[in-house]
Amino acid sequence: MCGIVGFTGRTDCVKVLLSGLESQEYRGYDSAGIAVLGQDGLQVRKAAGRLANLRAELTQNPVGGCTGIGHTRWATHGEPNEVNAHPHTDMSGRVAVVHNGIIENFAELKSQLIDQGVKFRSQTDTEVVAQLLGLCDRGDMRATLRQVLPMLRGSYALVIASASQPDTLWCVRCNNPLVIGRGEGANYIASDVAALLRYTREVYLPDDHEVAEITADRISFFAPDGSPIEKEIQQVGWDVDSAQKKGFDHFMLKEIFEQPRAIADTLRHYVDTDTLTLRRDRMPFTRKQAVLLRQLTIVACGTAYHAGMMGKSLIQRLARIPVQAEIASEYRYSETLATENEVVIAVSQSGETADTVAAVRKAKKNGQRVISLCNVIGSTIARETDAVLYTLAGPEIAVASTKAYSTQMLLFVLIALDLANLRGELSDEEL
Ligand code: GLU
Repeated sequence: MCGIVGFTGRTDCVKVLLSGLESQEYRGYDSAGIAVLGQDGLQVRKAAGRLANLRAELTQNPVGGCTGIGHTRWATHGEPNEVNAHPHTDMSGRVAVVHNGIIENFAELKSQLIDQGVKFRSQTDTEVVAQLLGLCDRGDMRATLRQVLPMLRGSYALVIASASQPDTLWCVRCNNPLVIGRGEGANYIASDVAALLRYTREVYLPDDHEVAEITADRISFFAPDGSPIEKEIQQVGWDVDSAQKKGFDHFMLKEIFEQPRAIADTLRHYVDTDTLTLRRDRMPFTRKQAVLLRQLTIVACGTAYHAGMMGKSLIQRLARIPVQAEIASEYRYSETLATENEVVIAVSQSGETADTVAAVRKAKKNGQRVISLCNVIGSTIARETDAVLYTLAGPEIAVASTKAYSTQMLLFVLIALDLANLRGELSDEEL
């Protein structure tokens, strides 16, 4: 997991790019870089190691301009060094690309490009995207993307800058998170909402394969065939403080201390505190659905899977329904036999966990009803499931889960109690 940023506005972009990368540092990375469009055309600066090294490089070789892209890399193809760091450019140095994810057919594409005389500099899969775009581009990047994107297999979040259209950025995703922030005379791109909170809380969440074209004053979306799409802007409820350390040495420590607040907020959302009853309109089962339920399958990865195991034990004990908890990476590749009146529950803090997204899609393809427990509003899993129960934990920055896990467990307690009551295993008083 690594970070992507993009900025286009009327002020210098370097500071914004670096601060955006900084707020995504928690995701882990091995090198960093930026590409800026300014008076000297497209300028790239990169450094292996920490962001401090990139800052030092920028002090020695400064760049300036109002449109730029940035990246912190977690190497999958090629060593973690300066050459392989992003942004990658095409041979002419006019097109720059940052990429999160993996281009699975890069080897094929690379050998075709080499046959056409393209000279590669890096060992990365990403460079094929930059070279393809550079080779095909005639000054209309939207048209170029229509031509190039269908050639790519794999997962990606891409942000593209081009010297031919210096005030514009393009971005597109496929199974990788990407958020676009709307500002005043400036617009932003990032892999994570936390990177944007300092600048805006108005965001667009593009769906897979939708291309966004972004200038300082305009954000437009296009379907893969090029037709324009209207997208709704989303308000992020989180504030800047919630994504900062606020005097704690580590995000994890801060988030441990936030657990009582996270649990109280989540509980208050699902329980009417005056009458001490569950808010049934916010719970995922009607009485009929609960009574008909024959089997529950919980899919999740890592810590969320542990919340799922606790959920399994509670639901079986209280509601007397058979439950299986499966690691999403196993579920997605295994032979699953969907039973009638089986419901799948997907658990993911970010709502972007790749294996859990794939498990959700598989269950939906099997015709199953899928419910999700997510923390990030509007995330892929939240959008693709039939019902979503949000944990109100606020941004969880630490990689080791704390408050998201506690609130996931709370939701399982509520689901178990709700199902038990709806199925007549628990009286209203007991509930
Ligand atoms: N696959 C790309 C690389 O190795 C991107 C890795 C990432 O997501 O940072 O350069």
